[in-house]
Amino acid sequence: MSDPASITVTPVFVADLYVEGERMPIYVHVIDHPQGRVLVDTGMTELHPTAADLDPRLRPLSEQDFDLAGIDIVVNTHLHGDHCGGNHLFAGKPIYVQRRELDDARSEDDYIREWVDAPGVRYVPVDGELELLPGLRLVPAPGHTRGSQVVVVETGGRPVIIGGDVAVWHGEFDEPPTEGRQRVLALDPELVWLAHEHEPWRPRTV
Ligand SMILES: [Zn+2]
Repeated sequence: MSDPASITVTPVFVADLYVEGERMPIYVHVIDHPQGRVLVDTGMTELHPTAADLDPRLRPLSEQDFDLAGIDIVVNTHLHGDHCGGNHLFAGKPIYVQRRELDDARSEDDYIREWVDAPGVRYVPVDGELELLPGLRLVPAPGHTRGSQVVVVETGGRPVIIGGDVAVWHGEFDEPPTEGRQRVLALDPELVWLAHEHEPWRPRTV
């Protein structure tokens, strides 16, 4: 068992979009674990017609000082285009996603199929919870999509969660909870990193 304190999470800015009068950032998250380097979501690397009116400004992982080859494992919280658009950069590496999300992404309209199944992309479909590495586990968190998942990092104290779009903005934590947000709150996290917020969300302490 590795020392939980030695697991670190680093957000990496990869793009922003213009949504409802504001710039909405897109972050991916790198988890440095003694047994490997894990990337949670992959952002976007190119423009897509469906996002043209969002005036995307891209800073793809492949065009910044980022060691692509140093990533051992990729996790997709879900497969919307702004979360899987860089999956092709990790062809041949295992990409962990909930099976339900993969099935939906291959059959439903609000996904960009050619990004989901880009050449060389190899998924490891997951059914429910999975311990990816010691102290690091995948937990289903349906709501934003049916097959969404979050990554729970044991820190020795309260866990740190990488939530993807479990809440798209902090305010969503005050809205009626989805099953996913309920599950996240029940874990009593110290903080939750989100894909579209600059700062992590922290539960209010009363
Ligand atoms: Zn999404």
